[in-house]
Amino acid sequence: MEEEKSEITPPEAPVALKRDSVEELFSQMEYLLQEGHEFNDRQRDIGIRLSLSCLPESEREWFLEIAREVNKIPLWMALWGQFRRCLEWGVANAPILDPGWISGSSVELTETECPICQVKFLPKVKGQRFCSNLHGALAERAATAERAKSEEAPGVAV
Ligand SMILES: [Zn+2]
Repeated sequence: MEEEKSEITPPEAPVALKRDSVEELFSQMEYLLQEGHEFNDRQRDIGIRLSLSCLPESEREWFLEIAREVNKIPLWMALWGQFRRCLEWGVANAPILDPGWISGSSVELTETECPICQVKFLPKVKGQRFCSNLHGALAERAATAERAKSEEAPGVAV
């Protein structure tokens, strides 16, 4: 009777999720990637679906339609096939980035020290070096002055 019960029980969550640790799951996936594990179509498509939320709903649906209905290929083939198309057209190194991807990036931002005031702050966006626009402007002005100084013709001994 125990076996019958297990047939109607939904699949158990993977061990990592039982531990409420999605991060652990991703660590395992990173390990497999590092080891050169060959993922199958379903697994690769899960990877693509993880990032689909970056697209607006309409683009997401269009992408899925192009992959599943028009070409009848896995999502990963649709995505990387587009990259190959971009390579062929010579536009692969000029991606169209959505400003929302950059400002809303979940890239881990670590505490940074402002080179102007030495105050430690948490950057709001990736690549932010200064605590404020004012200190960014001060640094830019100093760099411009430095460039101007180095571009002056060196004195010639007479
Ligand atoms: Zn500062």
